[in-house]
Amino acid sequence: MNVAISLADLVAIALFILGLHYLNAPPTARLGNRLAAVGMLIAVIGVLVTTLGIGWWAIAIGVILGGTIGVLAAVKVKMTAMPQMVALYNGAGGGAAALISTVEYYVYASGSNPIDPVISVSLILSAIIGALSFAGSIIAFLKLQELMTGRPITYPGQQFVNGILALSAAAIAVWFVATAGTLPVWAYPVLLVVALALGVLFVLPIGGADMPVVISLLNSFTGVAVAITGFEINSTLLIICGALVGASGTLLTVLMGKAMNRPLTNVLFGAFGAAGGSEPAGGAGGGPQNIRSASADDVAVMLAYAQKVIFVPGYGMAVAQAQHSVKALADQLEKRGVKVAYAIHPVAGRMPGHMNVLLAEANVPYPQLLDMEDVNPEFPTTDVALVIGANDVTNPAARNVTSSPIYGMPILDVDKAANVVVLKRSMRSGFAGIENPLYEMPNTSMLFGDAKASVDALTAAVKAL
Ligand code: NDP
Repeated sequence: MNVAISLADLVAIALFILGLHYLNAPPTARLGNRLAAVGMLIAVIGVLVTTLGIGWWAIAIGVILGGTIGVLAAVKVKMTAMPQMVALYNGAGGGAAALISTVEYYVYASGSNPIDPVISVSLILSAIIGALSFAGSIIAFLKLQELMTGRPITYPGQQFVNGILALSAAAIAVWFVATAGTLPVWAYPVLLVVALALGVLFVLPIGGADMPVVISLLNSFTGVAVAITGFEINSTLLIICGALVGASGTLLTVLMGKAMNRPLTNVLFGAFGAAGGSEPAGGAGGGPQNIRSASADDVAVMLAYAQKVIFVPGYGMAVAQAQHSVKALADQLEKRGVKVAYAIHPVAGRMPGHMNVLLAEANVPYPQLLDMEDVNPEFPTTDVALVIGANDVTNPAARNVTSSPIYGMPILDVDKAANVVVLKRSMRSGFAGIENPLYEMPNTSMLFGDAKASVDALTAAVKAL
């Protein structure tokens, strides 16, 4: 039986690794997701079989409850709410690691044997990191769901308070290991409270465009907590799964930080946009000036007689669910011999790969999706850059306004196109809550309205030409 379980674990692990590999590219991402899901099913069945006779029904209830919530969430949650969902799932992983440590601690505390040093180190580390990740993820969820302000919350002495909490947690952890887990009864609950408080206080000052980076960082924390829990309960499966999550979360954090040109220290301690406001876009804080508004008919003429058009999708396309309409417009333009491509910014939308997923759903050919490095040299020879609900990722202030909170973030160089048309509903700012000077440039026109309605109107007008 043991050999069969080990083999099942091995198959599950191989499927997770293959799944991650296939998630590398949009054409194979669905296959990757399915392989990893099959791996998870095999892993869960393995756990159920090994626990037969010892409370397996509790695990079965957990699987049914968790599975039902997972299926309902996958069906119901909107694409635009994915980051919140990821934050919640991530919190659940960290919370589970902390709960396992807590149960293990009280099992040891009720016996008379001292805890083995490897187990005491792993127990205390997974309790701290898991609780921190749980509390931090809940705050990230509340911010992204707009149940609390999404702006950084700062106060004097913040880093000092966080430092004291981190030192207290470290001191209790060292004490725990040094005394082989024989602490006074109050110490372990206090440690948990300190780790939870640290998680809350660590995410409070983070906001604006730094949220995706912090979610990815919390994800890697959860992976590390789960891997350490594997040492604690002697589970190779958990060690490897946790390591995979920890490593991929860390890589994603580094890549997103690079994409936004934000060193991790700036993300964690920089309080992105704390001083800014969510005012309408416009120049030099004086409100929008020289804004040119265009009609769908004007823009349709521009598009129909262009040689090269680049679509620049952003969060607004996701909100309006305009991806199918965008593909229909592209088809119309291609029929007229216009060369069409899509510019994909790594943090456009609200989750990594958000635009790729939406455009793949609308059957946009993958070769037309160009990453930022590949598409930016194309803009100077582009007739029309059609910005569909994107804002921050096109903001030229990132290039030249040193006081801007997004200064240094690589952007899509849409302003270098001969004409820029921006589809959005109003002059409101994007996620980062800052003004966008693109809207005042002489080559920019605004087509106001819901992105789907505007794109449908453009398609109809192009057809009629
Ligand atoms: P932004 O949030 O900067 O801008 C989106 C724009 O879409 C808004 O200005 C809004 O203007 C417009 N909009 C909203 N709804 C509609 C609609 N129905 N029709 C037309 N327009 C609409 O989006 P970007 O994609 O440019 O940038 C992403 C931002 O999100 C970055 O700051 C990034 O850091 C952050 N982020 C990214 C994550 C990721 O992993 N990708 C995760 C979390 C945050 P109006 O209201 O006037 O219509």
